[in-house]
Amino acid sequence: MAGIIEEYKRIGISEQVYYYGEEVLGRIREQFADIDKNAELNQIKVLNAFRENNISEAHLSGTTGYGYHDEGRQKLEKVYSTIFGTGDTLVRPQIACGTHALWIALSGNLRPGDELLSPVGKPYDTLEKVIGIREAPGSLKEYGVNYRQVGLLPDGDFNYPEIEKAINAKTKLVTIQRSCGYDLRPTLSAKSTNRLISFVKKIKADIICLVDNCYCEFVGDTMLDPGLADLIVGSNIKNIGGGICPCGGYVTGRTEYVNQAAYRLTSPGLGKAVGATLESLRPFFQGLFMAPAVTASALKGALFAARIFGDAGFNTRPKANEDYHDIVQAIVFNSPEALTSFSEAIQSVSPVDSYVTPIPAPMAGYNNAKIISAGGTFISGSSIEFSADAPMRPPFAVYLQGGLNFPHAKAGILKAYQNLIDIGVIDKGGTVPISFT
Ligand SMILES: *Cc1c(COP(=O)(O)O)cnc(C)c1O
Repeated sequence: MAGIIEEYKRIGISEQVYYYGEEVLGRIREQFADIDKNAELNQIKVLNAFRENNISEAHLSGTTGYGYHDEGRQKLEKVYSTIFGTGDTLVRPQIACGTHALWIALSGNLRPGDELLSPVGKPYDTLEKVIGIREAPGSLKEYGVNYRQVGLLPDGDFNYPEIEKAINAKTKLVTIQRSCGYDLRPTLSAKSTNRLISFVKKIKADIICLVDNCYCEFVGDTMLDPGLADLIVGSNIKNIGGGICPCGGYVTGRTEYVNQAAYRLTSPGLGKAVGATLESLRPFFQGLFMAPAVTASALKGALFAARIFGDAGFNTRPKANEDYHDIVQAIVFNSPEALTSFSEAIQSVSPVDSYVTPIPAPMAGYNNAKIISAGGTFISGSSIEFSADAPMRPPFAVYLQGGLNFPHAKAGILKAYQNLIDIGVIDKGGTVPISFT
């Protein structure tokens, strides 16, 4: 493979690091086979949803103006509902991002005087102002919605007694974030999410259970139980967009609750009936179709990173021998220099903006800390594309995610490994770890 070594050298990856990478890959072959098998299952599931809904070429182009009777949009929403097993779906280019999708699902279903409960600790940073954990104009708090939170136990399990205590007559909606966000807590599997919802519904049957499913779609072979999860919400520039969908988000679940979200997105009385799709539908369909395979590539990248940096002595979450429930790979560097060098490597091995140097900066909606973001993506900010974000604060953990294909993720990870050797954070041999934790 002389050719490949020459190509890697052009991005500054040494022969030694390349061969070490091959050795590391040898240790995770079986896990890669499992990822491929799961991608196959999900691909056939998606294919069948397209077939059963009779998708035709006419559905791939959109509407203008009000967007009444947009058949392509209606079909797309049906395909989503078939995949999730839900009653109805709202998936639209008008949903600006995952936070917006969560906002319409929450605010559409909560009323003044209601209480919202998170039984899995603090939600994702951008949700703090949505809920009013941090004061913000227009927050749920400003509209008279109260909020409670019960943290996970130190071992990552649910604090059942405290959750039971927190549920009262006013508790209308429980929000469950599966992915860890910028936190070092474990991501919830579909199974344990189902278990948590069963528990909540045993205490109070009419509570609306909303699942923040960002980064979790098509990971693992178990689905959220649509008989339990009333609303499932996510972003279309993460897993489910397959790296092709240009924008948007989705809310899927029970028809009544999805409609409530739609009344927030457009207006009361109009709901799902309006919303032109312009020329956007084709990549929504195509991205969904690609999503199982792309998610599998991203998972392989995450696992490869966990193995190579884990073996170099860094704490990772998940660890390479643990089950993955989302595509996010946290690596703890405990050193700003190592984190910066890692981010520079990811940026330099991007197809877009490879010559740019990532600089820590404040980001809208994110709590105080400066964020260093790396990743030159085709779709701005897309995190199913290979990218890394990190708050510039101890423990200097990076959250690495995505990869439209595994060779790209692999090159980025090898380059990052090389960088850490070059600045002396990892020992030259690449096999003798220096622990920073
Ligand atoms: C990405 C993400 C969101 C929404 O973020 P956007 O940047 O607004 O799309 C919400 N929750 C979790 C867990 C996420 O990963």
